Amino acid sequence: MEIRLSREPTLYRARYLIPVIGRPLENGALISVEGRIIDVGPYTKVKKGHLGPEQDLGEVALLPALVNVHTHLELSALKWRLTPSGSFVSWVKNLLRVRSNIKAEEFVKAARQALKSMWHEGIGLLGDHGNTGLSISLLRESPLTAVFFREVIDFQGKSSLKDYLKDHLNDPKITFSLAPHAPYTVSPLLLQAIKAWTKKYNLPFSLHVAESPEEVEFLMTGKGPIRELLEGRGQWSASFVAPGLRPVKYLDRLGILDEDTICVHLSQATEKEISLLSRRRARPCICLRSNTFLGVGIPKVNLMLKLGLKPCLGTDSLASNDKLSILAEMATVHRFFPEISPEIIFKMATIWGAEALKQQGIGYIAPGARADLLIYQLPQRVPLKDLFSCIVTQPPEQLGRLYG
Ligand SMILES: [Zn+2]
Repeated sequence: MEIRLSREPTLYRARYLIPVIGRPLENGALISVEGRIIDVGPYTKVKKGHLGPEQDLGEVALLPALVNVHTHLELSALKWRLTPSGSFVSWVKNLLRVRSNIKAEEFVKAARQALKSMWHEGIGLLGDHGNTGLSISLLRESPLTAVFFREVIDFQGKSSLKDYLKDHLNDPKITFSLAPHAPYTVSPLLLQAIKAWTKKYNLPFSLHVAESPEEVEFLMTGKGPIRELLEGRGQWSASFVAPGLRPVKYLDRLGILDEDTICVHLSQATEKEISLLSRRRARPCICLRSNTFLGVGIPKVNLMLKLGLKPCLGTDSLASNDKLSILAEMATVHRFFPEISPEIIFKMATIWGAEALKQQGIGYIAPGARADLLIYQLPQRVPLKDLFSCIVTQPPEQLGRLYG
């Protein structure tokens, strides 16, 4: 079911409505005008004074569109072409080898298809990362809202920021930012320069952190498979002195961590590192299905929540996941952490993701928010108290949409 919102003030009624900020409503309704929500509440209250048309959507729940904070659309052509080997660095090497043998048009075709499937999976906002810029024109054509992070990889620190700002966008649909790939692929000075730039423009900053045991080994000792990979690719820097610190501590020493820093993965982060992240109010981005595929460990999501962090969800790319689905990520979080309430998991999939990407009016349903809504067909007669559990444990193949 796909419904285009009417441009005139129209009331939409549903058996349930999940505002995210505030309790779910039974027999709920909202009024939208030109793609914005102007009123939300119980049907009887919203109906009062509304003289325009109304549409009853029936036995459905209305939800805000989902947020995928971490993707790499430009790697979509790698789907099913890589198998997990048990070693993170072997996977990286395979990725680089396979990637170099794929034709340009195949990358575009696969990225377009991936974007289309994200639409059907109910995603309304994504944080896409790329070092080719291939996905920018596709994002512009797509109905999804996007933050595009130009990814920086330069361990020797020979490049300067202006090299990455060539495709700096001034686009109402796409927010442009910079993202260093990881603490082991970008020089410390360049990491700090990127952070200073994103801070100056009040933009989100994103990087992969504490993903694999090899990353931890490299930052602690300067040795191991990552050192060999850098040397093999002519990227080793003789001036680099291993900090002898775990990844989160290292980034903190560089002044990188704050509430606008999205730390992707954290599958290797220790209790101490998570505690440090909570003091800095950084934004963990959890990509459990990718972590499971690569066998790099499972992040301590329950501890993050206990310490007041607001984790969000990402899929990473189709090189380490079989789908870019936040519905599937929610179900996986529930499977690994049944003690986390489904309502919190839903916040991870919506409002906390939009906050991490610094996008206003997305990830919740309230006056002033964007009317980008999902129609969840209830699989059976579900009592209100079981609604979140139903959404998280029984993800539908496809979601309906109500959009303007
Ligand atoms: Zn990634």
